[in-house]
Amino acid sequence: MPTSPSEAFEAFDLAVIGAGPAGLAGAVTANEAGLSVALLDSAAHTGGQYFRHPAPALGATRPQALHHDWPAYAALRARLAASSVKHLPGHHVWTVTREAEDRWTVHALTGTDGEADEPVTVRARAVLLATGAYERQLPFPGWTLPGVVGAGGAQAMLKAGLVLPGKRVVVAGSGPLLLAVASSLAAAGARVPAVVEASGYLGYARRPRALATNPHKLLEAAVHGSALLRHRVPVRTRSVVTQVHGTDRVEAVTVARVDRHWRPVPGTGRRIACDALAVGHGLVPQIELATTLGCATRRTPDGTTALDLDDLQRTSVPGLWAAGEPGGIGGWALARTEGELAGLAIAARLAGRPPHTGGRLPGLRRDRARMRAFAEAMAAAHAPGHGWTRWLTDDTDVCRCEEVTAGRVREAARDLGAHDARTVKLLTRAGMGWCQGRMCGAAVACLATEGVADGTAEGTVPPSAERRPLAVPVALGALGAETSERPAAEPDTERPTAP
Ligand SMILES: Cc1cc2nc3c(=O)[nH]c(=O)nc-3n(C[C@H](O)[C@H](O)[C@H](O)COP(=O)(O)OP(=O)(O)OC[C@H]3O[C@@H](n4cnc5c(N)ncnc54)[C@H](O)[C@@H]3O)c2cc1C
Repeated sequence: MPTSPSEAFEAFDLAVIGAGPAGLAGAVTANEAGLSVALLDSAAHTGGQYFRHPAPALGATRPQALHHDWPAYAALRARLAASSVKHLPGHHVWTVTREAEDRWTVHALTGTDGEADEPVTVRARAVLLATGAYERQLPFPGWTLPGVVGAGGAQAMLKAGLVLPGKRVVVAGSGPLLLAVASSLAAAGARVPAVVEASGYLGYARRPRALATNPHKLLEAAVHGSALLRHRVPVRTRSVVTQVHGTDRVEAVTVARVDRHWRPVPGTGRRIACDALAVGHGLVPQIELATTLGCATRRTPDGTTALDLDDLQRTSVPGLWAAGEPGGIGGWALARTEGELAGLAIAARLAGRPPHTGGRLPGLRRDRARMRAFAEAMAAAHAPGHGWTRWLTDDTDVCRCEEVTAGRVREAARDLGAHDARTVKLLTRAGMGWCQGRMCGAAVACLATEGVADGTAEGTVPPSAERRPLAVPVALGALGAETSERPAAEPDTERPTAP
């Protein structure tokens, strides 16, 4: 264990937070370039969201059957196994502190979800954030009934637990993830009576160049499309689930047509019987650790907030890099490319070399630009329309942790002048619960601006880059232990020197 502050700070060259495609690629690339690397993830296994796979105890004989791109993950895993990267699974990072541009401390708690309690600190000369994304949920009457799960959540249940959320599952919301989820569920034996997409797919045609330079994305869509055809799954575009029916759990949903602003068209509602609903309205970059450090952000075309990164994956805070979804939602291949790019750029920076020195960097940067262009087209095509709040009734719970209804949020906005999520939170407790507004933040902010001023702000999902000092829930006891005694992780092999 380090004994003096300077030894402590130089324990690792690089700490990578997140072991999905971006973090894994970043960690192994930086290690192969000579850096000592710690790779922390709250999950028990590497792979992140896309390459989520069953725990060995489940005895899955062919986990790759749920993945079209398993060889890419197998290659990353093999590089990790051959590396001296110190993989720290089950480490929930709650904050990162910066003592100087090349002195960072990553504060984590060990343990499985919900029972994390042992504080650990990791010191490094640079930090790469690869924390991925989480699902955006827009509420609707009945969304708290058992049987309603996130679309990505349904995929995660299947990939990690080999279980289906139901036998007859409607998949709804917006974004390309819906097609992937529906085809996985159908292939695993669920009946999928409908995929309900609030936008259309014609939006992509407005960016023909992004389509033409990413033909594999069209191929991917075709693969999912043909799987849905094979399983006779109809796709309804410009449609939404406006209500879930059932007493103890989901029994049916009402699906209605919407106009281009996602306002339900009266008289178009149709009931579809099902026992589960998998629903998600896109993904939100997970950037709390970075915004707490003051990193600059940008607004994405679908109304989320992502980190503003340069062409070498640097954030605006020197010494802090980011890769994958924190820079904007774009899929696993883009995340992997950005991880490699960041790994090379960090290795060059720590060795005092200029980064633009040929090798793989220029090719990676070109690939990144091409895939980012597609990601922006995708975000624009699935941006939530401002009329979505029309399907909320006043008694719909918006904040499920604190049980705050749409009516109470509207009242705070209308009668008490609360026109931002923070003021609504102070007046109603919406967003004050366990999830700290992750679930309801987007919806509360929309409701707060509903009908404001000229009406153009109505329902528009505002970006949220709230600074949160704690990225995960931390018990007071653990915080106390953190300040008095800090076990620090160290490289367990001889430290390779940076080239
Ligand atoms: C629920 C969900 C399901 C998805 N399913 C699919 C799918 O089926 N198909 C598809 O194409 N795309 C899917 N995606 C999108 C997918 O996330 C990306 O395309 C890809 O995985 C991005 O890679 P990444 O490395 O940027 O992030 P991720 O793969 O999300 O990896 C981020 C990692 O960071 C870790 N992490 C985050 N915060 C912390 C913290 N504070 N401390 C420690 N570790 C942390 C997480 O545990 C995770 O392992 C899904 C996304 C979500 C949110």
